[in-house]
Amino acid sequence: MSDYETVVGIETHVELATETKMFCGCSARTFGAPPNSIVCPVCLGLPGSLPVINRRAIELATTVGLALHCEVPAATKFDRKNYFYPDLPKGYQISQYDLPLNVKGWVEIEAKSGKKRIGIHRAHMEEDTGKLFHGEDARGSYSLVDFNRSGVPLMEVVSEPDLASVEEAIAYTTTLRQILIYTGASEMRMEQGEGRFDVNVSIRFREDGRTVWPPQSEIKNLNSYRAVERAIAFEAERLWRDWQAGGEIRSRRSKITVGWDDERERTYLQRTKESEQDYRYFPEPDLPHLEPARAVVEAIRASLPEMPDARRARFMDRYGLLAYDARLLTESRELADYFEEQVRAAAKASPKAVANFILNDVLRHLKEGRTDMRTLRQEEWTVAPIIEGVVAGSSSSTQASAAFAAALYENVPPKEVIKRAEYQQVSDETVLAAAVDLAIEENPKAVADFRSGKERALEALFGFVMKRTAGKANPQIVRELLRKRLA
Ligand code: ZN
Ligand code: MN
Repeated sequence: MSDYETVVGIETHVELATETKMFCGCSARTFGAPPNSIVCPVCLGLPGSLPVINRRAIELATTVGLALHCEVPAATKFDRKNYFYPDLPKGYQISQYDLPLNVKGWVEIEAKSGKKRIGIHRAHMEEDTGKLFHGEDARGSYSLVDFNRSGVPLMEVVSEPDLASVEEAIAYTTTLRQILIYTGASEMRMEQGEGRFDVNVSIRFREDGRTVWPPQSEIKNLNSYRAVERAIAFEAERLWRDWQAGGEIRSRRSKITVGWDDERERTYLQRTKESEQDYRYFPEPDLPHLEPARAVVEAIRASLPEMPDARRARFMDRYGLLAYDARLLTESRELADYFEEQVRAAAKASPKAVANFILNDVLRHLKEGRTDMRTLRQEEWTVAPIIEGVVAGSSSSTQASAAFAAALYENVPPKEVIKRAEYQQVSDETVLAAAVDLAIEENPKAVADFRSGKERALEALFGFVMKRTAGKANPQIVRELLRKRLA
């Protein structure tokens, strides 16, 4: 039992999947490029250069906002957020202050406690910064800067402090990421830094008959779910213990900023938080204010793809899938699309049979890296003939699995592989009858046992037939034939 409640709000920074940067024509795909190779006077902040708003970034950010049930205000503008750091060449970041692009939305999460709506305070646009690298060599310590990332469109989604546990925080971050990917606004590859979380943690408890709510900690720049999970748990506990020990938190008035040490699994103090005035926000004079046309906003709303939760519900309703299976199949939009393509292609099989084959066979090979969605979604590579074969009884499920594995291994489409004799069950009764007769002839003891009431003796005879037919006999027919002959 914990003696305090945990209260968490999360600011999510996500790089949008535009072709070019937020305010210049440089490519926004900078991952892996040589340092400082994708830069221009604008994103280097050289004097006299002028920014131009990336229309696509605004469209994508609006799409995300609508997917998060936000309102899109009639007017929005950019502001300068001034601070001095070597990864920020202009000395300010173009961001949004009092008129963000999206406000007042929500996301529904599913935690152990049930479904819960998490408020979205705002979701605005800004630009990413450069990257610093710190090192040390014989001459001493040094820092290097790479400006490739400078100016990449960055969306910031700010949640309300509605998250009450580590578990809810993880449910929120994973759900938010799934929505972002579904909208096509970002691929949010965490390992490439396309998604980062700033987590505000505070604790609340009763003491001497009143509610105490000590100043919070903001944990900066977490870039994995694991870090989010551990950092929140660590910091909440640290705040609590510091309070119990009569530490500095009792006299502190404002929030602090901490970093997360992934290796030592602990937070460390970065700074006491600057107040908003320290950023000296003021309207960006080089950019026009925007008034998103209602018709454009409504067109974007109308073109929103079906979101994961709606799709899950539809999969259960329309295809009769279990909640768990529907959740797995809607994990990504691509997988969900693939499932529905295969359902359409496999007209002679039930959607459930299609779901089972994808969940058991296709996903396993995808996870092991033996194939990818792009290959599988080619019409030629449909798995429908395999699944229909099982439903029709021409292949066993073992043969179906083996056929699909062989298709991937040999790079031959499944519809070709499944035709091979080795993946076809023998259901021809005249062929099977011969094997059954032989089994009876060569196993007199098992026959006698079965006839004297030992039901299990049938398995010995069954095993003989299966071995004889190299496992290809249709098991159901073999059992029927054996019983008929022994009756
Ligand atoms: Zn540039
Ligand atoms: Mn930000």
